[in-house]
Amino acid sequence: MKKSDSHIKIRGARVHNLKNINIDIPKNSLVVITGLSGSGKSSLAFDTIYAEAERRFVESLSSYARQFLGVKEKPDVESIEGLSPAIAIDQKSISKNPRSTVGTITEIYDYVRLLYARVGVPHCPACSKPVKRQTVDEIVKRVSALAPGTHVLLLAPIIRSKKGEHKSVLAEIERGGFLRVRLDGEIMRIEEARDAFLDPKKKHNVEAVVDRLVIDTDLDKARLRDSTETAIKVGSGFLIVNDTFQDILFSEHLACASCGISLNDLEPRSFSFNSPYGACPACTGLGTTLEVDSKLVIPNPRLSLLEGALQPWARASHKVGRQSWYWWMLEDLASRHSFPLDKPVGQLPKKIIDFLLYGDGERFEGVVPNLKRRWRETDSEWTRGEIEKYMIVKTCAACGGKRLKLESLAVTVGGKSIAEISDASIRDELFFFQNFLKSAPKEIHLVLKEIMRRLEFLINVGLEYMMLSRTSTTLAGGEAQRVRLATQIGSHLTGIIYVLDEPSIGLHARDHAMLLKTIRHLRDLGNTVLIVEHDRETMEAADWIVDLGKGAGKHGGKVIFEGLYIKLLKTNTLTGEYLSGKRNVVIDNRERKKLSPKEFLVLSGAREHNLKNITLTVPLGRFICVSGVSGSGKSTLINDTLVQILLAHFYNARTTPGSYSSIKGLEKIDKVVDVDQSPIGRTPRSNPATYTGMFGPIRELFARTREARARGYGPGRFSFNVKGGRCEECEGQGVKKIEMYFLPDLYQECEECGGKRYNKEALEIEYQNKNISEILDMPAEEALTFFKDIPVISERAETLVKVGLGYMKLGQPATTLSGGEAQRVKLATELARRSTGRTFYILDEPTTGLHFDDIQKLLLVLSALVERGNTVLVIEHNLEVLKNADWIIDLGPEGGADGGEIIAEGTPEDIAKNPKSYTGQWLKRNLK
Ligand SMILES: [Zn+2]
Ligand SMILES: [Zn+2]
Ligand SMILES: [Zn+2]
Repeated sequence: MKKSDSHIKIRGARVHNLKNINIDIPKNSLVVITGLSGSGKSSLAFDTIYAEAERRFVESLSSYARQFLGVKEKPDVESIEGLSPAIAIDQKSISKNPRSTVGTITEIYDYVRLLYARVGVPHCPACSKPVKRQTVDEIVKRVSALAPGTHVLLLAPIIRSKKGEHKSVLAEIERGGFLRVRLDGEIMRIEEARDAFLDPKKKHNVEAVVDRLVIDTDLDKARLRDSTETAIKVGSGFLIVNDTFQDILFSEHLACASCGISLNDLEPRSFSFNSPYGACPACTGLGTTLEVDSKLVIPNPRLSLLEGALQPWARASHKVGRQSWYWWMLEDLASRHSFPLDKPVGQLPKKIIDFLLYGDGERFEGVVPNLKRRWRETDSEWTRGEIEKYMIVKTCAACGGKRLKLESLAVTVGGKSIAEISDASIRDELFFFQNFLKSAPKEIHLVLKEIMRRLEFLINVGLEYMMLSRTSTTLAGGEAQRVRLATQIGSHLTGIIYVLDEPSIGLHARDHAMLLKTIRHLRDLGNTVLIVEHDRETMEAADWIVDLGKGAGKHGGKVIFEGLYIKLLKTNTLTGEYLSGKRNVVIDNRERKKLSPKEFLVLSGAREHNLKNITLTVPLGRFICVSGVSGSGKSTLINDTLVQILLAHFYNARTTPGSYSSIKGLEKIDKVVDVDQSPIGRTPRSNPATYTGMFGPIRELFARTREARARGYGPGRFSFNVKGGRCEECEGQGVKKIEMYFLPDLYQECEECGGKRYNKEALEIEYQNKNISEILDMPAEEALTFFKDIPVISERAETLVKVGLGYMKLGQPATTLSGGEAQRVKLATELARRSTGRTFYILDEPTTGLHFDDIQKLLLVLSALVERGNTVLVIEHNLEVLKNADWIIDLGPEGGADGGEIIAEGTPEDIAKNPKSYTGQWLKRNLK
């Protein structure tokens, strides 16, 4: 066998910091690529192997298809042999489409729709009675089966609960040859009915009497059949059989005989919220609607209309604006209803405020309807955006957020609607289908088994608490990645190179073994799985490990080890030494742990989502970890409740914290810093230099050079955001945005400036032999020495180095930072600010993307913050971090409905002793 059949052979890879490396990666294997943060792992896995595979795929397509996908640049690599089609499953590529849910991504929802279309039982959306379609044969069979001796009436319903005198209807019944009718429940001859007085303002029922029969042995079946057919024809598909006790309703339509509501035939698209056949018409299937919020329209009721109390019309209050249309409308309204324009709005009668908001039913439209109408009618994105400032997202009132038409929601399988199924946890859903299978008709067994198979994949990647209805936009990075992983296994592809980025993120140690089993399964299907990972268990499970280093940035980019895990343990790379225990992630917090904490922040009665009315007690001035299996409620408790309360308290942020009863101890902290993983900016204009605030002083340095002064260049010349020094072709971005229709936006290097962002004149100015573009290209650790005499710059560079970002270029565009890197840039920025000594820092999974050695650095930084009296609270699964915590708060016991409780609190040693805590079980094995 040639080596290119069994290996991916890479020669001369030079992408980013890769040092012209050659490497052979075994195919059909589970391969871990590891190394320090910034050592070049992603450059090798994603930017070389995956990028080249994708480029070759695009090349192979027709030129027509290519124009939509854009021409991909060839990565800087001499050659790659043995490549096959590749699929990247990283944390960034989450669909931003609010119409995509876990159910649609995994295609499970498509199968569930099929199931509902095949065997769903329709119910009337108005009265909830089951609705059935019956053939004439079935009706005849049921009527003949009535007890012998029963007198039956066959009635054709003509008028059902409708106001009027109905004279012409009665005349028509007579012309049809019927002798009797039932009028409002009373049988009478047609002449009698014609002469009877019908109150036109009242609702009436009229049925034609088609036949009268007695059920006995010599029942004339042919006559019953004829009469049934006639009645159904006259009754437009409906028939009432009265057995002297009650009416029995029959219909050949899928329609409710009592309410007369006709239902459409069930098809898979009837259950799709992305199809007009299934979507709730009020919200077009989104489950939410944008509504104007009166509190945003009148944010300050202490103002009068004169002073601009109506925020959207505020300009109508200024002197000039008083000639405007809106002002004229307000004056008119005020004179007609005689209220003053100079009185605070809050003091006006409620009736008047309602007129202002919703109109007076006369000439005045009302601010809310006016905004809604303009929002609907406008073609301008800008206007729509302006109006949306006064709108909030509300659950759709028509469907209750369930996205579907009421008649689709009223269809059940096994007694449950499709919305109930979608809102249940994957675990409960699987349980439900397992039960349903026992009694389900044979024809749908295949569909059911496919649904169950795919649900199991989701459970196997640790998502048993997840719901099919979860919108993809609300998934955490790790969750989204594992949803896609489960989908890939369901797709049964073989011969693929899967490239994964830290699939263990957000996963508790308990669920990790299951995830690894899934990944091995993916390999056993005949695929190559490349994982960028730092985690010990994953490396243990790998067939092959590639360790990049030796350092980060320009000190990295080399292959320092390749081979089996047991060999790695014996090497002297940083990875090998941490794995073998020669080095350990450890901070010295013995002193802190000895002293019992004196001050606490106490959040009581937290009950959002699955939280079970719990009390969170955070010891202040400590390093605290919040742990628990996925879905146990960590994020709901910390991010959705605690952080929101703190942000509202300290920054008057307009947030809605999750439900809680009270919070005590706020006076003991004076500042809160939420260091999350959201990008530091949405465009390439933001970068670590601008974010940390060192770019201002750098531009001033350039403006103070002799040459700049001679030419009269101010600091603005060295900004890439304003005209003057920037390259006008790309407006200082260095790249040009290419908008893609179906894929995320693509950025391509600017040809004019070659990505340097500045024009020739600006680049001619040098500070210590470097121009401004070269400074932006400088890694933080180099900046630390380069600017050593300028503390305002070097101190900020130093904090970047401290959080393990020494390799990061000062001008690296925000759009290219990973979530973990963005988080560490934020942390570095916070470190550079003077800590108050009473600051409350909150971090969500800060170890994302970190090697053991990076974690060590991070813990030292966090520990130093705590030493100065601050409180650091992290949500974390990583055992290296957990065992170094001063205090752990463990949630659980399970995810979803079975979680939401605090299982254990205390030092890592305390938690390890607690048999109820999963975290404790894993800690026990790792604490020595
Ligand atoms: Zn009904
Ligand atoms: Zn709706
Ligand atoms: Zn340019």
